[in-house]
Amino acid sequence: MKKAFVTGWPIKHSKSPMLHGFWLKQYGIDGSYEAYGVEPENFEQFLKDLPSSEFMGGNVTIPHKEVAFANVDQLDNAASAIGAVNTLWLEDEKLCGGNTDAYGFSANMDQFAPDWKNGKNAIVLGAGGAARAIIFAILDAGYEQIHIVNRTYERAENLSTLFDKKCHAHSWDKLPELLSEADFIVNTTSIGMAGSDASMMPDLSTLPTSAIVSDIVYIPLETPFLKSANELGLQTVDGLGMLLHQAVPGFEKWFGVRPEVTSELRDYILGLSS
Ligand code: NAP
Repeated sequence: MKKAFVTGWPIKHSKSPMLHGFWLKQYGIDGSYEAYGVEPENFEQFLKDLPSSEFMGGNVTIPHKEVAFANVDQLDNAASAIGAVNTLWLEDEKLCGGNTDAYGFSANMDQFAPDWKNGKNAIVLGAGGAARAIIFAILDAGYEQIHIVNRTYERAENLSTLFDKKCHAHSWDKLPELLSEADFIVNTTSIGMAGSDASMMPDLSTLPTSAIVSDIVYIPLETPFLKSANELGLQTVDGLGMLLHQAVPGFEKWFGVRPEVTSELRDYILGLSS
């Protein structure tokens, strides 16, 4: 039996076991995917033990993504650029680390707004861990300008220097003047996440009518950010598909089948959130 895991601390909130479990059943694979809590002080040893363990690999989530980045034998291009690993697998007894968040984000955009790659000017709200993957994906999509807008300006500045000259850092009060030029805006902050403080929710009314609006927060599915864009008649893409698509490359590596992101899977995962 092929075995994989998701590890983090704490880990019980993760939807990944249900997501991979759905595919294991759908494809009739003799395998398992389990949540495996590892405390931060034990995580490096956990990585050292992996090559001789029963696991084919697994996913890594908060707070272990940066420690995994620093301790694998080999990184893929996305993980190298993003500075964090969310997927582990073994190749010739070497522990490999990849980052599939940027892939998941792009695949979700490709599915629901296939024209998103035609834009030139993007705004990324937020400068946390997720923003790094989103910026990598938007650069890869060919955008010419990426404006990183964050409540704490210094974090936006740090992030812009990590990437390309195409990235520019801004404080939150600069957002109104950036909106009218944007082809694409994505929220990577936790504003609007169920139970969070939404007092800094931006007014999107000056966005061009052709702008595409996305949020990577998916609880609730229609965040206040997406709701206000929908009310303005703008094209929107929610964040659930990013979660589903980012799981595809790992499943294929561990279990040998490239799984499909279907509407049945989406409905199943949505049903778990409600
Ligand atoms: P993080 O590293 O903690 O960063 C949080 C970001 O949100 C920072 O930019 C922070 O600004 C900003 N922020 C937090 N509260 C705010 C508020 N009240 N007003 C304005 N800005 C605020 O978190 P992360 O890992 O990047 O994750 C961010 C969100 O993305 C989470 O909700 C997470 O669930 C979601 N996510 C979704 C997916 C998916 O698959 N769809 C994947 C990854 C993450 P400061 O720098 O000023 O603190």
